[in-house]
Amino acid sequence: MSERIAADVCVVGAGPVGGALACRLAEAGLAVAIIDRAALPPMEHPDFDGRAYAIAADSRRLLEAAGLWQRLPFPAGPIRDIRVSDGRVGRPAAPLFLHFGAREAGAEAFGWMVEARSLRMALNARLHELPGLRLFAPAAAVVTRSADGATLRLGDGTEIAARLVVAAEGRDSRLRAEAGIPVTRIPYRQTGIVCAVAHERPHNAVALEHFLPAGPFAQLPMAPTEGAPNLSAIVWTERDALARRLLALPDAAFARELARRLGGHLGAVRPLGRRWSYPLTAMHAHRYTATRLALVGDAAHGVHPIAGQGLNLGFRDAAALAELLIAAAAAGADPGAPALLARYQARRRPDNLMMLAATDGLDRLFSTDHPLLRAARDLGIAAVHRLPPLKRRFIRQAMGASAASPAS
Ligand SMILES: Cc1cc2nc3c(=O)[nH]c(=O)nc-3n(C[C@H](O)[C@H](O)[C@H](O)COP(=O)(O)OP(=O)(O)OC[C@H]3O[C@@H](n4cnc5c(N)ncnc54)[C@H](O)[C@@H]3O)c2cc1C
Repeated sequence: MSERIAADVCVVGAGPVGGALACRLAEAGLAVAIIDRAALPPMEHPDFDGRAYAIAADSRRLLEAAGLWQRLPFPAGPIRDIRVSDGRVGRPAAPLFLHFGAREAGAEAFGWMVEARSLRMALNARLHELPGLRLFAPAAAVVTRSADGATLRLGDGTEIAARLVVAAEGRDSRLRAEAGIPVTRIPYRQTGIVCAVAHERPHNAVALEHFLPAGPFAQLPMAPTEGAPNLSAIVWTERDALARRLLALPDAAFARELARRLGGHLGAVRPLGRRWSYPLTAMHAHRYTATRLALVGDAAHGVHPIAGQGLNLGFRDAAALAELLIAAAAAGADPGAPALLARYQARRRPDNLMMLAATDGLDRLFSTDHPLLRAARDLGIAAVHRLPPLKRRFIRQAMGASAASPAS
């Protein structure tokens, strides 16, 4: 017999952002349903996603409040220092470089490296254990929204009546399209190559962002595993055509190309496991809300991975929306009221737009070999180094300290 369910909030998309939001709301006692079109257990397979995320301090607070951080099956690796350098492939980095230490901002770490798979495992466990949360996956929903509420009809006849629907379906959000919300997209014609690398010398929790003419190359310190005591994640941006050639190289030649970009500071390097590739685009939805609908995470915005901030912005959306919804529930107010949705958009759009502009600007400024632009940015780097207040601002921004604080 088909079931009828009443929920305060129904989240569509059980990716990291939708999943964390659903857990946070259920943890606070709201009645929550979450739907994903895909089955969730296969997403735990090592071949499903090779990404590792740099989780900022405020994202960590959201994950703790959602009961997810405590369930990560593999340890998170702290990032205690970041070195930014400007260089060319095969040559030493320019002598002008920036060094940011988390201690300079009085913090333990800039963030923590967490494998996408580890987060997925924690999510899959948590989504099953919260009493106020109903999970439907794989399932597709037909959604109707009106000023009074929303109804989601699933293929098996289940009907969910919700006060608010949250679109967390990633970049190609169907709910966003159905609501007629326009999107601005910036194609980069760049591909993000992602892989893990074992190295001879320890990384000492230092992350490296090496700006090369084709795009940034980042080495991010990971916690050790049984087979790899010194391990890092690599996010390597290249023009599409070159990326295709690099991805097709035999292992030894790929390792050589990687080592040329990384430099010698970690000793001999050995790429581990699969190479992954992700086409890079930035996008921004013109509105984050519609009648009984809120967009979060990549459904609302996508940024260049140059600063490793995409998921952190999504977590900040989830934290801001959760805070408003939990307060509304405590006051007995309507969680899908237009005023609440307007407050959500007002809190999140400026921060997301600023990050979109900053990451886009950084990519354009650094993805060039023009001598004048190189000189200008090297001077800029030197200036940031010499001006402690400016440097502290950068550090606080990277750690998410200036963004809307999450629900705790
Ligand atoms: C190369 C690369 C490196 C990155 N590195 C970082 C990093 O270091 N740090 C960082 O913060 N971010 C990083 N990002 C960005 C980050 O990966 C994304 O911001 C993040 O995955 C967005 O999460 P999400 O939950 O919004 O969407 P998604 O992860 O896309 O999840 C969407 C979910 O919705 C489901 N779904 C889709 N359509 C429907 C539908 N119609 N009905 C039901 N369910 C649906 C999907 O099955 C999926 O489970 C990186 C991105 C790239 C490309």
